[in-house]
Amino acid sequence: MFKEINVPNRTIMTPGPVEANPVVLRAMSTGTLGQFDPAFTSLMQEIKEMLRIAFNAPNNECLAVDGTSRSGLEAALFAMIEPGDKVLIPAYGRFAYLLAEIVERAGGDIVLMERDWTGTFEQAEIIERIKAEQPKIVAMVHGETANGQCQQLEEVGAYCQANGIYLVVDCVATFGGMDIKQDEWGIDIAIAGTQKCLSVPSGMSLVSISHRAKAFIESRFQKELGLGADQRNERFIQSNYLDLSQLMVYWSQNPINHHTEATNMIYGLHTGLRLFVQEEGMEKVFQRHQLNNNALIAGIEAMGLGIYGDRETAMPTVIPVMIPDGIEPNKVRDILLEEFSVEIAGSFGDLNKVIWRIGNMGYSSRKQNVLHVLGALEATLLYLGADIQAGKAVQAALKVYR
Ligand SMILES: *Cc1c(COP(=O)(O)O)cnc(C)c1O
Repeated sequence: MFKEINVPNRTIMTPGPVEANPVVLRAMSTGTLGQFDPAFTSLMQEIKEMLRIAFNAPNNECLAVDGTSRSGLEAALFAMIEPGDKVLIPAYGRFAYLLAEIVERAGGDIVLMERDWTGTFEQAEIIERIKAEQPKIVAMVHGETANGQCQQLEEVGAYCQANGIYLVVDCVATFGGMDIKQDEWGIDIAIAGTQKCLSVPSGMSLVSISHRAKAFIESRFQKELGLGADQRNERFIQSNYLDLSQLMVYWSQNPINHHTEATNMIYGLHTGLRLFVQEEGMEKVFQRHQLNNNALIAGIEAMGLGIYGDRETAMPTVIPVMIPDGIEPNKVRDILLEEFSVEIAGSFGDLNKVIWRIGNMGYSSRKQNVLHVLGALEATLLYLGADIQAGKAVQAALKVYR
């Protein structure tokens, strides 16, 4: 017999998915509407407005793609890249290589600019490389989840804006936890997701498109054959499902028929955005992430554990913790989950088994969670015989709060 699902209560301190906000979950459980019901389409229009506020880009074309964050990355890159287009990708962590992977599949000509994963690039270095390579597009990551590093963008963006180069940025790990100033930073397409700092379950990607990128994408519009054979285009975008030129019309006041919108997911997204831009308010949300980040760092350092990478360019939403010598990393994560119902993450590539990553995102970014994860991590490490300072971590965090 199959039983009704009964999931445990978890404290999720990973870089995603994080705990969904209960208000969001409540909204998602209300009755399903059809995607062309005016009671529903008004929600989509409000989401566009809230996304413009959230990205600090009041005139942009904003929409959500059905699919996790990488669907938005893929939609953006497939829309901007025509076979043979040169794309420069500065890489300082794992997710830049995801961009490269997508660019490769889109038929772009990749120029990778690589460095070790301990820090980010000087913006001048990137600009020099842009001058040398003359790419059509620069694609990069704002906050790198694999190492907790955050790249400065405004000079790169200004150069791209002034020189007809498109800048596409993965803001998945920072959106909702740090201010994304899309217009000011000169980003043409910014992409984010739902399951990180917005605390909406995984399943949608947020895309914000500048005027000039919109004009370019529109030049590739092709109508689906079943809707009429009139608007064909030799330069059509390879994907149907992720075709931003059609999706922009789908999200307009005068929509074409495309996919069946995930209407209950849209209730969740609308609610997550409303809590962020209005109810708690963006400034307060960022301050909360900063405060909890400070408390986590204070606790981890008081325990005697190291933090990985350059502290100057660290982001507040992912804390990369050095794994102490002689400790089996997965054993710690198993005990945390089994005994404390706390989930933290490992990392990727060269950082696998070198760092754990503690997420500090969205609804999971709360004092109660911070104190719980610190207490649980300390107890687990002591249980396994790690050489750490006992009794200090939670005290150090309490000092930050009180
Ligand atoms: C999580 C993450 C992604 C991938 O997101 P999915 O929602 O799993 O597709 C991409 N980029 C960054 C920086 C991320 O943190």
